[in-house]
Amino acid sequence: MTNDRAPLIIPDRLKPRDGRFGSGPSRVPVEALEALAAPGSVMGTSHRQAPVKSLVARLQENLAALYRLPDGYQVVLGNGGSNVFWDIAVCCLIEHRSAHGAWGEFGRKFVDAVAAAPFLGEPVSYAAPFGQAATMVSADGVDVYAWPQNETSTGVCAPVQRVGGAHDGALMLIDATSSAGGMDADISQTDAYYFAPQKNFASDGGLWAAFCSPAALERSARLTAQRWVPPMLNLTVAAENSALHQTLNTPALATLALFDHQLTWLLENGGMAFAEARTQASSGALYAWAEAKPFVRPFVADPAQRSPVVATLQFDESVDAKALTSVMRANGIVDIEPYRSAGPNQIRVGCYAAVDPSDVDALIECLDWTIEHL
Ligand SMILES: *Cc1c(COP(=O)(O)O)cnc(C)c1O
Repeated sequence: MTNDRAPLIIPDRLKPRDGRFGSGPSRVPVEALEALAAPGSVMGTSHRQAPVKSLVARLQENLAALYRLPDGYQVVLGNGGSNVFWDIAVCCLIEHRSAHGAWGEFGRKFVDAVAAAPFLGEPVSYAAPFGQAATMVSADGVDVYAWPQNETSTGVCAPVQRVGGAHDGALMLIDATSSAGGMDADISQTDAYYFAPQKNFASDGGLWAAFCSPAALERSARLTAQRWVPPMLNLTVAAENSALHQTLNTPALATLALFDHQLTWLLENGGMAFAEARTQASSGALYAWAEAKPFVRPFVADPAQRSPVVATLQFDESVDAKALTSVMRANGIVDIEPYRSAGPNQIRVGCYAAVDPSDVDALIECLDWTIEHL
């Protein structure tokens, strides 16, 4: 804090057991980290040998089970995270022109990647003010529609369903980076449902995964036969490697192992129903608190668009959110600061599946206590 008063010390009895509430990278279970160092861990071993290949195969099977993948869909993996998947889509999936849900920071970044590609037409972009999503509608000459299921900078979610009136064969690309593993989706409504594991999957960054439909795989095979595409951005090359439970180049083994740990834990406890119950309990408690208190409200006004996995709360002028987050940080409760550009006087809380809802209840107690003492 910038003033010279003694920093506030939140009583230990109010504090969450784990104070990490970031929206990505997010809380990683301590047991998963311990398993990395245990005998028999894959750390420090070859990614071309059976232990890592069988870990990747299990990840692929478990992801397919979690989302009940339709026949013919493939779980494809590669290095580089979701940003790289945008470049892959530019190279391998968009034929002439794409249309984008361009709300929030992450929606916009994909449009920027497309707009810079000299071989593609000007993208169509559906924008909305921070805290809202636009409706995806069909547009002429568009062969790819893309939007985020959960827009993470503000916590806005949008339906996952094929755009009505889109021409036959148009591909639907869903950025599920912060929704996968915490929100369900009907994968048959999508052609590439892609994500990275540092959010609901409680892992580290650097990897992307995509559920690719037969149509997406065919589009990629056709376009990459016609266009020069760098091998690292070639979805067809990634699909060939993924079929062998490999990646084109060396993956981060810790990222794979932590991802596998969280996915196994989710499935053992009930899969998607379990994950959704947790994320909804955590975010629901925050939204209920914000609706009950006069000095704060959910930032996303429309309850149907309010994210179950990332809750953004807007304070009025009676509360200084910056002072609030700095007291929290000094007390070991971290990463509830708002996204860089989203809006002033907010907090943003990651309510991913790895977060215990009782920790969110404790966080709310700490917020109440601190606001009273500020
Ligand atoms: C975090 C996030 C990204 C960026 O993921 P990287 O793995 O860092 O590239 C993209 N889209 C959404 C919706 C995100 O939440």
